[in-house]
Amino acid sequence: MSKENLYNLSLDQLKNWVAAQGLKPYAATQLVQWLYEKGAVDFDDMTNVSKQARALLSESFALTPLEEVQRFLSTDGSVKFGFKLADGEIIESVLMPISGRVTLCVSSQVGCAMGCRFCKTAEMKLRRNLSQGEILGQVMAARSFLASNDEAAVQLKEAAQYQRLSNIVFMGMGEPLHNFEAVVGAVDLLLDDRAFNFSRKKITVSTSGLAPQIKEFGARVPAKLAVSLNATNDTVRTEIMPINRRHDLKELMAACRTYAEYGHGVVTFEYVLLGGVNDSLVDAKELVSLIANTPCKLNLIPFNEYPESTYRRPEPESIRQFHKYLAERGFQVNIRYSKGLDVLAACGQLATEAKAQQANINPS
Ligand code: SAH
Ligand code: SF4
Repeated sequence: MSKENLYNLSLDQLKNWVAAQGLKPYAATQLVQWLYEKGAVDFDDMTNVSKQARALLSESFALTPLEEVQRFLSTDGSVKFGFKLADGEIIESVLMPISGRVTLCVSSQVGCAMGCRFCKTAEMKLRRNLSQGEILGQVMAARSFLASNDEAAVQLKEAAQYQRLSNIVFMGMGEPLHNFEAVVGAVDLLLDDRAFNFSRKKITVSTSGLAPQIKEFGARVPAKLAVSLNATNDTVRTEIMPINRRHDLKELMAACRTYAEYGHGVVTFEYVLLGGVNDSLVDAKELVSLIANTPCKLNLIPFNEYPESTYRRPEPESIRQFHKYLAERGFQVNIRYSKGLDVLAACGQLATEAKAQQANINPS
C-alpha cells in the first residue's frame, strides 16, 4: 500500500500524530519548518529531528514532490509547467509576471466536470480530484523554481520586478469548489503563518458558480473569491455553462451576497467576452442590473481561442465599448488580457492529453 503524502495533513493533524507517537511537541514545530519553510523532500534531510521521529515518519508517510515533465516559456515571461502526479496523470500550473508581483495559477483537479462550452479543460472531463498535497506541491515547485538561478526564472523575476511568489489564484485546471475539502485545506496552509504565510488578499479561488459551496467557503476561509459569471441571463448562461441549470443566477447572486457578508473583501466577477454571445451593450446593461446590489469588482476577459474552439474573441472596439459602459456607471472594471497566450497557458487553454501519451516527456 502506498504511504500517505505528509503534505496532505493539516497542522493540527501533524501535531496530533506527533503526540500520538509519544514524541515531544517541539518535534511538530520542527517538522512544520522542514515541510513549509524548507520544502523538504527527504526525511533524512531533517537533521534536527530525532532519528526516532524520522524513522516513525518514514514508516507511515512519504514526501511526494511533483515531477516537472514539461515547461513552456511564453514571450511575455510566463512559464507553464506540466507536472506528473504519482499515478501518471499530468496537471498544469502557470507562473505569471505582473508588474510588482508574481502570480501562480494552480490546478485543483485533473480535468473538470463542469463542461463550460468555451473552456478547453472541459474537453478532458473530470479525471480525478487533486489532493491537498498535490495542490501545495505546485506552490512548492513554483517557489523553488523562483529561488533558482534558472534563466527563465531570472527573466520572469525581471519582467515582474519582483523576486518571490506573491499571489496564488485557483484558476488552473478544474473547479476548485468541486474539490472542496482539499482546496480549503490547501488554502488554510497557504494562509497559516506557521506554514506559507500568504496574506489573505493574495489568495483567490475562482468558481464557475457552485452556490452552496460559495457560502460554505466564506464561512470556512478568509480568502478572496472570484465568480465566473460570463452571462447576464439564465438562457445564455445555461447555454454556455451547464452548472447554471443546477444553480441559476438568482441562487448564485444570493450566494455571492452571503459571501460578501463575511467581510473577506468584495467578490470579483469574471466575464469572458464571447463575440456575438454576451458582448453587446444590451448585455452590459443587463450586467449592471444583475450585479448592482453586490459589492464587487469586474474583470473582463476577452475570449482566448484554442484549436477547435467554436467561439471567437470580440472586436477590440466592442471590448472597449463594453468596458466603457460599466466604468461610466461607477464599477471597478478591468480588461484582463490573459498571459501566456502563445504557449496555451492562458485562461481556458489548459488541458493535458491522456497520461499514456505524456509519460515520457522531459523538461525542456
Ligand atoms: N473553474 C474555475 C477556475 C478555472 S477557469 C472557474 O471556472 O472559475 C478560470 C477562468 O478562465 C474562469 O473565469 C473562466 O471563465 C475563464 N475561461 C475559461 N475558458 C476561457 C477561454 N477560452 N478564454 C478566456 N477565459 C476563459
Ligand atoms: Fe471547469 Fe472553469 Fe473550465 Fe468551466 S471554465 S470547464 S468550471 S475549468
